[in-house]
Amino acid sequence: MTEVLRHDIVIVGGGAAGLRAAIAAVEADPDVSVALVSKVYPMRSHTVSAEGGAAAVDRDDDSFELHGYDTVKGSDFLGDQDVIQYFVQEAPKELTRLEHWGCPWSRNEDGSIATRAFGGMTTKRTWFAADKVGFHMLHTLFQHSMRFDRIVRYDEQFVTKLIVDGGAVRGVSALDIREGVSRAILGRAVILATGGAGICFPFTTNGNIKTGDGMALAYRAGVPLKDMEFVQYHPTGLPGTGILVTEATRGEGGRLFNRKGERFLENAAYGVGSKLELGPRDMISRAVDQEIRAGNGFEGPHGQYLHLDLTHLGRKLLETRLPFVLELCRTYVGVDPVTQPIPIRPVVHYMMGGIDTDIDGATEMPGLYAAGECGNHSLNGANRLGSNSLTECLVFGARAAIHALCFAKGVEAGSESVARQQTEEEAARIASLRGQRKGGESLARTRSQMQEVMEEGLGVYRNQDGMRVAVEKLAQIKERAADIRLEDTSTVFNTELTAYLELVNMLDVAEVAALSGLARRESRGAHACSDFPERNDREYLHHSLVRFDDRRPRVEKKAVTLGRWEPEARKY
Ligand SMILES: Cc1cc2nc3c(=O)[nH]c(=O)nc-3n(C[C@H](O)[C@H](O)[C@H](O)COP(=O)(O)OP(=O)(O)OC[C@H]3O[C@@H](n4cnc5c(N)ncnc54)[C@H](O)[C@@H]3O)c2cc1C
Repeated sequence: MTEVLRHDIVIVGGGAAGLRAAIAAVEADPDVSVALVSKVYPMRSHTVSAEGGAAAVDRDDDSFELHGYDTVKGSDFLGDQDVIQYFVQEAPKELTRLEHWGCPWSRNEDGSIATRAFGGMTTKRTWFAADKVGFHMLHTLFQHSMRFDRIVRYDEQFVTKLIVDGGAVRGVSALDIREGVSRAILGRAVILATGGAGICFPFTTNGNIKTGDGMALAYRAGVPLKDMEFVQYHPTGLPGTGILVTEATRGEGGRLFNRKGERFLENAAYGVGSKLELGPRDMISRAVDQEIRAGNGFEGPHGQYLHLDLTHLGRKLLETRLPFVLELCRTYVGVDPVTQPIPIRPVVHYMMGGIDTDIDGATEMPGLYAAGECGNHSLNGANRLGSNSLTECLVFGARAAIHALCFAKGVEAGSESVARQQTEEEAARIASLRGQRKGGESLARTRSQMQEVMEEGLGVYRNQDGMRVAVEKLAQIKERAADIRLEDTSTVFNTELTAYLELVNMLDVAEVAALSGLARRESRGAHACSDFPERNDREYLHHSLVRFDDRRPRVEKKAVTLGRWEPEARKY
């Protein structure tokens, strides 16, 4: 008989957001029992690969007002201002708390916290631990979480379905990747912290596990996804692999050059003003893209690229502040940044969009919360500032947990028989997939086709025709996906099966992103339309929602919370 496990709160995801939420819940209530479910061992979550840093006000020349304004402006006025104000105030508390738990933040000579410059930020407010910030943050969170035996980990368990009963979420069905069985994990509240969806694109900094699972689970359960057209391209990825060269390189003084040796960001048309390399990511990615299109790039085996030059910074600084960048460049492109410029091109990095939540992380569905990159509390709007995301995982992971806890205390646990029945149906569906599909389509090819469509339709620049074609082609690919051949019958680490489940999730997420993009006939933040080059506040100063309704996607609008800062032209 299908096993049913019981906890008060089920958290899906063992990255920064999931771990922070788990700790917040057990610290707030000594009796609460938390399930932490993750499809990989938590230390392998994508958070581990974050390089550059986490933002929080810490200096005398800084203020919450400034961090708030930078974030609002960075978001191209699509961030909710109540959310942003709460975020900037909580940020220093969260990073200090992490220090008390053991995070080795880099220091100045006098022992104070060292901060570095980051794109779109007025002053140095990005805390760092050399350039392995995610590694240290995740280690700290993971080790701290192990102090609590009320956090029960379910590693290598792939959540395939939300258990919904009477319109409320009651838990999840999880496939044990090691054994091939599905179990029900009942929770009075569920927090999704499943990360982003960069793998919808072919060229990305994202780990292979970032397939939008939580977004797709919520979407299919009727919860809308918000602002999905805003896909962040990071200006400096290594050609060929997509490995990230952190923005910290520019924070430390790195410069961008084209083939003619020009520091092209000095061109006023690119809009970054005197910020140059420290402009926001959307603008710099567009500048790099335009330089390449204008034929000012270098020709390489993986297409055209530009140069990021760190050679003037000197070996000592590079070895202490950016050791990981040296290692990555030497290993993956055979370039030594101490003496040679680094080849770079824009790369898909982050999804601004995600599961629609309020400031508490609550979704429309009773009991269902989201935090971290999979959620959208409207902090980042149309463009995230680098280093706000790690802090966001902490601030809103903790807040979602406290609100989920309150919710959980006020409701009865879900019915065991309903959970069992839904999980048995899910197990039967998975069994019918495992090695049982004789279709004519290849999984790998279908995935590549989706990725190509997304790159063509939702690149650094988009237009209506391109996005319309993307929507049409994605619909065709979805149809063909029903005919994908699955041959592996194994129940132990059947990666063909999990790759298929991930592809189905990505196809939903990709479709929503393309539909949201098509509906927004303006340029704002990362959504740069060549046919609608201006921002249009009169018609589009609103969030995009896409809801799965009557088995079809429906595009809706949601108001932006303004307040402290009036929308103005975004100039640097
Ligand atoms: C290379 C790189 C560098 C970055 N550098 C920075 C930086 O310097 N500063 C910054 O602020 N941001 C940075 N970011 C962004 C930031 O790291 C991420 O947005 C953030 O770490 C996301 O954390 P998360 O907890 O939301 O998700 P993740 O860390 O991605 O974790 C997701 C978790 O969900 C689990 N999961 C997913 N699907 C399922 C499922 N179906 N069933 C069960 N479990 C599931 C996974 O196992 C994993 O544990 C960087 C991102 C990348 C890719």
